[in-house]
Amino acid sequence: GKQTGKNSFALFSPEMNTFAIQRMDMENLLRKALEKNEFHLVYQPKVDLVSGKITGAEALLRWHPNGGDPVAPSIFVPIAEETGLILPIGSWILENAVKEAARWQREGLHGLSLAVNLSAVQFQQPGLCDEISLLLTHTGLPPEQLELELTESVIMEDADSAIRTLSRFAHMGIRFAIDDFGTGYSSLSYLKRFPIQVLKVDKSFIQEIPHNQDDASIVLSILSLAHSLGLTVVAEGVETEDQLTFLRAHNCDMMQGFLFSQPLRAEEFRSFAAQETGI
Ligand code: C2E
Ligand code: CA
Ligand code: CA
Ligand code: CA
Repeated sequence: GKQTGKNSFALFSPEMNTFAIQRMDMENLLRKALEKNEFHLVYQPKVDLVSGKITGAEALLRWHPNGGDPVAPSIFVPIAEETGLILPIGSWILENAVKEAARWQREGLHGLSLAVNLSAVQFQQPGLCDEISLLLTHTGLPPEQLELELTESVIMEDADSAIRTLSRFAHMGIRFAIDDFGTGYSSLSYLKRFPIQVLKVDKSFIQEIPHNQDDASIVLSILSLAHSLGLTVVAEGVETEDQLTFLRAHNCDMMQGFLFSQPLRAEEFRSFAAQETGI
């Protein structure tokens, strides 16, 4: 394989050849990753901008092939999606995330909700609703404490079937968030048609507020549109006090980002959430 150092992957070189070899290596490593127990989830706190309290977290997948350096999800998740490996991996994510969220409720962290990212392939699986319903029954997690994140493109691919699936979940009491909002090509009219409850403003729009006028206008428009439709808005990738001040002044509901906290290991998140937040 074309590895740079011990266990560390070079980013794909522009030469197809290198790309193909590396991709093959990674695919093979990914195939064994579940049985070798190489995945874990980290939890990034989500904060309510009015109360300053942690309202929950987003679960994010981490992978350390052979116990070595991590590979970024932006590199391996697309490969897992293309190979279909995202189905068993996605089931592992859901099971572990739901178990962890159920533990929060048992240990006194009542009311914290957990957001889980879903890939298109997972969302389009006919068995997904039943799978999640069983997990909730087995763990006792109230459905209101689970939120599922989807990108716009997944929903737009087959809008009618997406509405049916989303309606089933809404019926079960599970909320949906549109992830990376603003980066897709869809028209805004779909917001009215889909039973979703949360918009997550993509971090590319947050990064340069308040000084970038275009981004500031975009964020303000999203906030006003979302609120007029009764949706909750989460800003992602908040890194500075200036960004926070802007978001708070314009009634953004929640935020996630390094300013407040990096994604944390499960036990770290539990003790972090047990403290009052200073925001
Ligand atoms: P995403 O769902 O948009 O996740 C947010 C990403 O932003 C995460 O990157 C998170 O660590 C990062 N982030 C959080 N706060 C900040 C900040 O203040 N500044 C900056 N620059 N970044 C911040 P991560 O964990 O590398 O994940 C990247 C993407 O990989 C995710 O984007 C998601 O699309 C995918 N992914 C991660 N975990 C899962 C998973 O469990 N399932 C699926 N299907 N996809 C996942
Ligand atoms: Ca997400
Ligand atoms: Ca996102
Ligand atoms: Ca993203």
